[in-house]
Amino acid sequence: MSHRHFEGGRLIVASHNPGKVREINELLAPFKADVVSAGDLDLPEPEETGLTFVANAKLKALASARAANAVALADDSGLAVTALDGAPGIYSARWAGPDKDFDLAMGRIESELGNTEDRSAKFVCALTLAWPDGHCETFEGTVTGALTFPQRGDKGFGYDPIFIPDGYDITFAEMDPDKKHGMSHRADAFIKLVAACFA
Ligand code: IMP
Repeated sequence: MSHRHFEGGRLIVASHNPGKVREINELLAPFKADVVSAGDLDLPEPEETGLTFVANAKLKALASARAANAVALADDSGLAVTALDGAPGIYSARWAGPDKDFDLAMGRIESELGNTEDRSAKFVCALTLAWPDGHCETFEGTVTGALTFPQRGDKGFGYDPIFIPDGYDITFAEMDPDKKHGMSHRADAFIKLVAACFA
C-alpha cells in the first residue's frame, strides 16, 4: 500500500498537552519537522465525538490541519478490557471524571469485573497524520496484557498501576519509563507511522 509522505516543514501536533507534544517532538527529532502544538497556535479543541480511537484521532488531526493549513498529527488512546466489551475504551479519560481521578476509574474497572476470571486487556493508540486537503494516514498500535488489583507502582500515569504487559510480572507503573515508552501502544503506532510516512 502506498502512503502519502510528510515532506518536511511545519507539523502541528494536535494536542494541548505539553507532555504529549514534548514526547512527539523527541520521537520526530530525526526528521525534518518543525513541530508546533495546537495549544501554542491557540487552535480550537474539537469535541471527541467519534465512536472509535481512529475516528477521534482523525477528527482531531483534521481539525488542526484545516485550521492551521498545515500537516497535523493527533493521537487518541485508552485501555480496552476484554471482559468489559472493550470498556473504558474511548471513554478512558472520561471514566476518571472532571478531577482526572484515576483511583476512581481503576476502582470502577475492578468492581465491574467482579469475580470475572478473564483479566486480559490492551492499551490502544490511534495516530493520524492529516493534510489540509482532507487526506489522512492512520495507524493503530497496541500492547496486550492482564489487569491486577490492587494498584502497584507509582511511575507512569492513568491506568498504568493495574496493567501488566504480557511477558512481564510488573505493572507499567513499576517499570522504568524508558522501557515502557519503548514497548507501549504509542511506540507501536509510531513505528508504523514513521515507516510509512517519514522514512
Ligand atoms: P488521550 O488519548 O490523551 O485522551 O488519553 C486517553 C486516556 O487513556 C488517558 O487519560 C489515560 O487514562 C489512558 N491512557 C492512554 N495511554 C495510557 C498509558 O500509556 N498508560 C495509562 N493510561 C493510558
